Amino acid sequence: MARPREARWTGALDILGELRGTTAAVTRAEAARRLGLGSGSATEITARLRALNLLDEIPAPVVGRGRPTTCLRPNPLGPLVAVVEVRYEDWRCAISEIDGRPVTVVVQRHGRSDGSEVVRPIAEALRELRRQYGQRLRAVSVAVAGAVRYGRLVQAAPLEWGPTDLSGIVPDDALPLLIGNDATLAGLAEARDGAGAGTGTVLHLTVEVGLGGVLVVGGVPAVGAGGAGGEYGHLPFGDRSVPCLCGARGCWDNEVDGRALARHLGTPPPEDPRAFAYEVLQRAAAGEAEAAAAVREVARALASGIAGLVNAHDPSVVTLGGLAPLIRAAAEEDFDAAYLDGLMSFRRADPIPLRAASLGDEGALIGAAASALDLVLSETGLNDWAADFGQGLDKPRDVP
Ligand SMILES: [Zn+2]
Repeated sequence: MARPREARWTGALDILGELRGTTAAVTRAEAARRLGLGSGSATEITARLRALNLLDEIPAPVVGRGRPTTCLRPNPLGPLVAVVEVRYEDWRCAISEIDGRPVTVVVQRHGRSDGSEVVRPIAEALRELRRQYGQRLRAVSVAVAGAVRYGRLVQAAPLEWGPTDLSGIVPDDALPLLIGNDATLAGLAEARDGAGAGTGTVLHLTVEVGLGGVLVVGGVPAVGAGGAGGEYGHLPFGDRSVPCLCGARGCWDNEVDGRALARHLGTPPPEDPRAFAYEVLQRAAAGEAEAAAAVREVARALASGIAGLVNAHDPSVVTLGGLAPLIRAAAEEDFDAAYLDGLMSFRRADPIPLRAASLGDEGALIGAAASALDLVLSETGLNDWAADFGQGLDKPRDVP
């Protein structure tokens, strides 16, 4: 049963929610109308949020004969979250206001040899943000290219990292730390603010090195008991004679990316499968027949697996990220035929739409910000903020 909201934040959580995931100006009048709030209570709530530095209001341009209103935006002295994305070849760190639009502040390549190597430089970047923003920084959220279970990176197959403890990036529990899989977080972002926005159940799949994804139901990712669900790349949709880096055999992961293209072309496994895949896609576009045949093969493997997942999950829409929409576009006929072939017959007359993800490479970062803001903009998070604010947020925090 849902807990009743505290009277203190009634309406405030909804108003703050209106600011999230949007780049368009939100006026107080529009927010009130969408939320079914009277203009008096909207004015009272926004004044209270302004007094706590939770939002800011500036006069809205006057349109027609309507009463003057204000544009709502994050307060320039309001709460912030830090987001980190650990990718195949590098990591980056960004900062986000409560609108959930991260701005990248540091990008650094990593050696790929050992996960623990990235802990120290990321910790240093976060320490710098804490020096700069003090208690305005409320949480840290990490998106990582690997399987995450109970907040721990348990396996990063393409990176070939073993279990890695990332908790050291925020020493001494100085801030809440959330760790999630990159494809899961990108899916969360696509479902809430991207190509799946406004639909109920979104299956997000992304191909980079291997394949990841998530089923998002009503804005909430279905990630299982320990958070490691959605490892769709390790379904046995592949050739059982091919061992996977994850330890299983016959994984779909090995059929849909640059490694698969190299196998079909009879070339050695590429050092950077992602870059190799882009290169083969270009060669195919330039008319190289062998490259085009390899792309068609990969497109069929990808599309028939997607059909199987549509049969299993019955989503409202499938969003495709990373290389997936490019593979589809490069071999559309083969892709679409394999998709239809794999669907149960009752689904074929009106197949679930497949859409290219709209947030691009920013998806995982935006999803990581969203999950941190879910915490910061909860009742508990707002109570904590109000308490810290009452004690004077400007005091610099001791940074070890
Ligand atoms: Zn596998």
